[in-house]
Amino acid sequence: MGCPCGSQKEYNNCCGAIINGERDASTAEELMRSRYTAFTLADGNYLLKSHHSLKRPSTKEKKEIEKWAKSVSWVGLTVISKKDGQQNDSTGYVEFRALFMEDGKINDIYENSLFKRENGKWVYF
Ligand SMILES: [Zn+2]
Repeated sequence: MGCPCGSQKEYNNCCGAIINGERDASTAEELMRSRYTAFTLADGNYLLKSHHSLKRPSTKEKKEIEKWAKSVSWVGLTVISKKDGQQNDSTGYVEFRALFMEDGKINDIYENSLFKRENGKWVYF
């Protein structure tokens, strides 16, 4: 199956390896893509794990996130721009738009998100 993040790669060679913990995201963009894919899978555990500990949602919020992520149909992800977030950076921004269908209407999430390294690993801040 093609990865839900739209990379044209196999899921297991793309976000799957990161979500399953086989490897760490090497860039902020990879981490962001894996989080989008986790939304399409309603994988709340990974969404919490990939969040900076200072901003991490609670277990109760996790249930709400999973419920919502399951209730919509994920349409696709577009990475618009990125700044830093490479192997030698400690912060990075990724600007993206994620499309989904909710109640029969197309909707989107647009963000210019900040990513940081925590204990050496990229996380969503
Ligand atoms: Zn992917």
